Amino acid sequence: MGARGYRVTVLEKLDAPGGRAYVHNINGFTFDAGPTVITAPFLLEELWTLAGRRMSDDIDMRPVTPFYRIRFNDGTLFDYTGDAAAMRKEVEKLSPKDVAGYEKFIETSEAIFKVGFEALAHVPFGSWWEMIKIVPDMVKLESYRTVYGLVAKYVEDERLRQVMSFHPLLVGGNPFSTTSIYTLIAFLERKWGVHFPIGGTGALIRGLVNLIEGQGGSVRCSSEVKRILLRGRKAHGVELSNGERIEADIVVSNADSAWTYRYLVDETVRKRWTNERLEKQRYSMGLFVWYFGTKRKYENVAHHTIMLGPRYEGLLSDIFTRHVLADDFSLYLHRPTATDPALAPEGCDAFYVLSPVPNMESGTDWKTQAEPYRKRIEQHLAATLMPGLEKEIIASHMTHPLEFQDRLSSFRGAAFGMEPVLTQSAFFRPHNKSEDVEGLYIVGAGTHPGAGLPGVLSSARVLDRVVPDVAHFA
Ligand SMILES: Cc1cc2nc3c(=O)[nH]c(=O)nc-3n(C[C@H](O)[C@H](O)[C@H](O)COP(=O)(O)OP(=O)(O)OC[C@H]3O[C@@H](n4cnc5c(N)ncnc54)[C@H](O)[C@@H]3O)c2cc1C
Repeated sequence: MGARGYRVTVLEKLDAPGGRAYVHNINGFTFDAGPTVITAPFLLEELWTLAGRRMSDDIDMRPVTPFYRIRFNDGTLFDYTGDAAAMRKEVEKLSPKDVAGYEKFIETSEAIFKVGFEALAHVPFGSWWEMIKIVPDMVKLESYRTVYGLVAKYVEDERLRQVMSFHPLLVGGNPFSTTSIYTLIAFLERKWGVHFPIGGTGALIRGLVNLIEGQGGSVRCSSEVKRILLRGRKAHGVELSNGERIEADIVVSNADSAWTYRYLVDETVRKRWTNERLEKQRYSMGLFVWYFGTKRKYENVAHHTIMLGPRYEGLLSDIFTRHVLADDFSLYLHRPTATDPALAPEGCDAFYVLSPVPNMESGTDWKTQAEPYRKRIEQHLAATLMPGLEKEIIASHMTHPLEFQDRLSSFRGAAFGMEPVLTQSAFFRPHNKSEDVEGLYIVGAGTHPGAGLPGVLSSARVLDRVVPDVAHFA
C-alpha cells in the first residue's frame, strides 16, 4: 500500500507487532510465537523491492535441511528434504514398492503448483466468472479429491501416505477433507526450499516495520479497532477501543476475516457475511503451543521435527469433525537454536512444541486443561527425544485456542481462520474487496488464497490488484 502511494497507519491490538509471529522474550530466550517454516522467500523479497530496498541488507535468511525430520510412533525416522535423490533413498528405505508412485506424485504436485500457485494464488476471485474459468483445470487436476485421497492413489505404505499428506495441517486443513490443490505445497518447498532468518522470525517483523516507517507510514501498537466507521454502506475510518476516531480513504482489515465482519462491521449492512453465515462456516483447527527453554542443549534434535502419534485419520477426525480433545497427539517440535544459537543463553536451547487440537467448538476449558495437557506432552518428549526434560526447563510459556480467541481475536479460536475446504476457497472465501462494504478491503489468512506465509503474502498481491489508485482520492 505504501508503494502505491498510500500513507499507511497500521493499528495493532497487541503491545508489539507480529500477530501470530509475535515474539516472547523470556529469561534470555527468544521465542518466535508462530511461523517457523519459511517457504517461498521471494514473496518477502518482493516487499523489500517494492520499498526500494534489498531484503539481504536487513535479513540473513538461511536454508534449513532437512525440511522436516519425521519420527513415526515406533521411533523410525524419515528425513524430508528438497534433494530428489536423497528423498528417493528415504522412500526406498521405508517402502521400496512405492518409489515409482512417489516420483509420479511429485510430478503431479508440480502440475498442480503451476496452476494452483503460479496461475491462481494471485487472482482476485471477486466474481463467479473468475471461478467458472478455473473449473476445467480443477477437474483435470482432480481437485475434487482430497490431499490424502490423491496421495493414496500413488503410494500404498500408510507411513508414506502420512509423510506426503500432512502439509495441509500447516495451513489449518485436514488432509482428509482439504482439496488436493494443497499438494502444491510439496513442490513449492522443493522449488524454493525451507528457510529460517538469523535472529528468528522477529527479525522479519522488525524488517517489515522498518519498511513501513521508511515509506512514511506508522505502526501503532496497543491500538485495538473497536468498529469500522460507516456512512451508509461506505467505510470512512475506524474507532479504537479508547474512543479515538481515525478517518481514512480506505480501510484494510488484516484481522481474522470472520472476526472483522462479526464484530467490527455493523450487522445491518452485511448481506453476504451475516452472523448466521459466519456461524455456519467451518473453521480451522486450534493449536496448543508450549514454548520452553532448557538449561542444556539437545544437539540430536533437528530444527524441525514432526512426531507422528499412534493414530492419523482418527486423530484428525477428533480434531476437525468430532471436536474432542483426544488423549493422544501428533506434535511438531521446533528447535530454532539448531540454526541460530543466539536465540537462547549460552549452552541452552530454545524450543516450541505444537499440538493440533480442536478449536473452541470443542468446549474444552483451557484454563484448567492447559497445564495437564502440557505435562503429558512434556512426559512424551522426555520418554522419546529429550531425556530428563522435566529437570532442564528454565523458561516456559503456553498458548491455546482460548488465547487465539481472546488475544488474537480469532473466531472460535481457530489458528488459521476459515478451514481451507473447496467450498470455502477462492470465490467462496471472504473477498479481498468487501462484498458488503464499499471502501473496505480484507487481507491475510482469512481471505484468498489462505493461511501460511505464502498464502498471506499472496493475498497482499491480490489486494494490490483490487484497491483503487490513490489518484482516485485526489
Ligand atoms: C503456531 C503457529 C505456527 C505456524 N507455522 C507456520 C509456518 O511454519 N509457516 C507458515 O508459512 N505459516 C505458519 N503459520 C501460519 C501463519 O503464521 C499465519 O497464517 C499468518 O501469520 C497469518 O497472518 P495474518 O496477517 O493473516 O494474521 P495475524 O498474524 O494474526 O495478524 C492479524 C493481526 O491483527 C491484530 N488484530 C486483530 N483484531 C484487531 C483489532 N480489532 N484491532 C487491531 N488489531 C487487531 C492481531 O493482534 C494480529 O496482530 C503458523 C501459525 C501459527 C499460529
